Amino acid sequence: MALSTWFRPPRHLIVLFLGMSIVLMGTLGWFGVRLLRQDRALERERVRERLERAADAVAVALQGELNNVDDQLSNLSNTFLSELRTEAADYVGQLSDDAVLVVMDSDGLEAYPSGRLLYYPVSPLQREPGAAVFARGETLEFRERNFSGASRAYERFVQSSDSAIRAGALLRLARVRRKAGDADAAFEAFRELTGFGSTTVASLPAELVARGAILEVLEDAGRADELTAEAESLHADLQSGKWRITRAQYELYASQLCTKIAYDSTVHSPTAPFLESALALAAGAERLWDNRSTLDGNGREVTWFDDEPMLLVWRHSGELTVGLVGGRRHLETDWIGSLDELLEGERIAVSLSDVRGRALTATPAGEVALSAARTAAETRLPWTLHVTSADPPGDFARFAERRRLLLLGLATLALLLLVGLYAVTRGVTRELAVARLQSDFVAAVSHEFRTPLTSLKQLAELLSSGRVSTEERRAHYYQVMERESGRLHRLVEGLLDFGRMEAGALEFNMEKVSVRDLVRGVVTDFEVEIADDSFTVELNEGAVEATAMLNAEALRRAVWNLLDNAVKYSPDCGTVWVDLKRENGRATIAVRDEGLGIPAGELESVFEKFVRGSSANGRGTKGTGIGLAMVRHIVEAHGGEVGVESQVGKGSTFTIVLPVEE
Ligand code: ADP
Repeated sequence: MALSTWFRPPRHLIVLFLGMSIVLMGTLGWFGVRLLRQDRALERERVRERLERAADAVAVALQGELNNVDDQLSNLSNTFLSELRTEAADYVGQLSDDAVLVVMDSDGLEAYPSGRLLYYPVSPLQREPGAAVFARGETLEFRERNFSGASRAYERFVQSSDSAIRAGALLRLARVRRKAGDADAAFEAFRELTGFGSTTVASLPAELVARGAILEVLEDAGRADELTAEAESLHADLQSGKWRITRAQYELYASQLCTKIAYDSTVHSPTAPFLESALALAAGAERLWDNRSTLDGNGREVTWFDDEPMLLVWRHSGELTVGLVGGRRHLETDWIGSLDELLEGERIAVSLSDVRGRALTATPAGEVALSAARTAAETRLPWTLHVTSADPPGDFARFAERRRLLLLGLATLALLLLVGLYAVTRGVTRELAVARLQSDFVAAVSHEFRTPLTSLKQLAELLSSGRVSTEERRAHYYQVMERESGRLHRLVEGLLDFGRMEAGALEFNMEKVSVRDLVRGVVTDFEVEIADDSFTVELNEGAVEATAMLNAEALRRAVWNLLDNAVKYSPDCGTVWVDLKRENGRATIAVRDEGLGIPAGELESVFEKFVRGSSANGRGTKGTGIGLAMVRHIVEAHGGEVGVESQVGKGSTFTIVLPVEE
């Protein structure tokens, strides 16, 4: 088919509509995507603005906090030494346990609260008895190896009123007793020495020296259980910063003790979390001490000890330098923790990093979509500040809601468009089909009329010309003319009646009729009609008579139509069967043929008006396509049903089922 033919109205409407729908849907989609993108960008901008505002607020709050610390340090550096200890302890008491306050002067360094530093950059200057005090005993002990003499010499000082001399004497006494092989007595002396706490002997706290020596005695004596218990308790005290010792002393004892305890790397290793931060704290204090001469005024810095970040804030005034040393937990608890209200109100999370971007505090978990940062240069804080949303899904929830509505709107529009398209396509397709059926109908009706009209015309001409010689011939022509005009009459009547039936204007006047008589009458008349075609109709009247309220003329037409079809569509079989039956209060009239049959796909549609099936169209059989539609109208007007069973090539059986009187 040429494209121009195919594209004739109303098909071009479908294509036009389809094209418009595609353009419309495309525009709708494009518009939707743009709208969503813009909305998302707007939403992000809003969240960003919120975070920027919050970052400013956080920076101001942290600056305030830093000023507070400065003020506190400044106050402490101007406090009298006598009150310094309590004031410093009060201040540090408010901070987390990962912070320590150090006070330095030219003589040494004090840390508050005590015990928080595992080692000190300097050991305190404590007086120890001069070498001359124990000279006699040491000569006996080392030169003459006279242990009992030495023992006696040291014993004299054990009663001294000076605790430093007593401690020195006890240490030596224990030592010489050990050399003499008297382990128990040595043990006793060391035990007594443990009571001297931080009194200095051999540049170390007496207790530490004594407990260290006890370990050796226990080891020599093979008292393994006691040795482990003692070592563990000493290790625990060492790690709790019980004594003021230097880094070298701490490391020496720590490493020696590690071989004597049940070593567990998650607790005892220097990289174990607690130890690492405690060691970093001591290293921080050491750094302040080492740089004390260069410290000027007040200052702050963030530095790293291994993996531990450390904040150092100091104030130098006159002779005194006061510094605050704080680790990661201090930053998280005392700095970020001080912002709790702000963070909650603004729904944000804050993290800190050093200038190189290394995280000083815990960073927010998961992926961070948006954040605002304030660098150290912008805020004069010793770190870069990062502000993120505490609830990113919440931020975008409103957006999601709007997007859902938008998508719903777009989907509804698209659906409406599709429904519209479907309805129009369907309507136009139907229109097309009806138009085709109607034009076929007109062609068929014209054809139906032409044949009888032509023969009528010819016969009339023949008769009027006077060329028909015999009376017998003339009589035959009149008969043919009568039959043809009868056919024409029926055709016209049928068409008119069908028109009335369609319009619902045809009234069926019912009367009591015998179904058998009616069918018998139709069959007889029909046989006369088809006498020329050498067809026979076999009527099986059934056993039981049935009467029903019928419009005899209408029902005759229905049966006639079925008989007419059976003959028309049986080109090779000369018999049509009509069976009458009565069962269950219903009479069935079945018209059967062994003709062309109807394909299964057409069984429904053949009852629609103007529809002609393949058995008619393929062979050019005469007909108008309204016969079966009429049958259905008539039967349904009688409260009955019409049905068909058929097989292509085998034949068809049309049945009319009517309610009958009991
Ligand atoms: P038509 O004037 O075409 O016979 P009908 O409404 O009477 O119109 O029948 C509709 C169509 O049903 C026919 O065109 C034909 O294809 C099919 N049909 C009807 N009766 C028979 C039959 N007995 N055998 C085969 N096909 C039939």
